[in-house]
Amino acid sequence: MPVKRAVIVALDPLLVRIETKLESLGQWHRAQSLRHHAATWRGKRRELHAWVQTLIEIDIRLREVVQRETFLLDQMRILTTKGEMRPPAAEELAQAVAWQEELDDPDIEYWRQERQTYVAESQCPWGPFLRGFFSYRQQQMWFLAEWLTADCAGRGGCCARGCGCCKRERSKTRAHRFGHCTTMCGCCQRRRGFQLTAQDRKLMQPPLNLVGVGDDTYSRGLLKGYIWGIPV
Ligand SMILES: [Zn+2]
Ligand SMILES: [Zn+2]
Ligand SMILES: [Zn+2]
Repeated sequence: MPVKRAVIVALDPLLVRIETKLESLGQWHRAQSLRHHAATWRGKRRELHAWVQTLIEIDIRLREVVQRETFLLDQMRILTTKGEMRPPAAEELAQAVAWQEELDDPDIEYWRQERQTYVAESQCPWGPFLRGFFSYRQQQMWFLAEWLTADCAGRGGCCARGCGCCKRERSKTRAHRFGHCTTMCGCCQRRRGFQLTAQDRKLMQPPLNLVGVGDDTYSRGLLKGYIWGIPV
């Protein structure tokens, strides 16, 4: 083990006491900064970034599943309301059948992504990184942090408008019911008025380069928004 890493590992119990003291004084940002520096001094940057990228990819997929399910339920409700006023057209009936078939799938996909989230979180690297991650995630509505909100707006999501979708529950039944827009957000789709192509979907999410370069502006933003809650 390199000397620098060995020293910072040996100092960990002391760091925990200092972090606890800072938090008791209301200095969460300084405590979080200390955890971030300690995690950086420990090295293994590549492994940490790989873990972060996996977590973010699963998080996006989980939000996509929830948002797609909500969109389908909303569309079925709209169609039912229309059907009460006039007989549905043939293409509306065909669309309803297709939506209903798709609605049979989210349970499986949601279950898989929710388990994957747990598996990923259980592999979170031990030490100051873990403490920083969980300390940030314990904050209520952490996902409404400035960077994540700006990212959602930049990707063309609801945070660019006044609809407030990202501040509200997106599902009445799913545990993971909060979060920013994905390509599956129904409000975004209705606002756009057109379906995204596969190429368009790529435009709605800048590439995740944490495992590769890992030092571009977007990667730093992801680390701030998803993991640390402070500039890194
Ligand atoms: Zn919206
Ligand atoms: Zn949206
Ligand atoms: Zn948003």
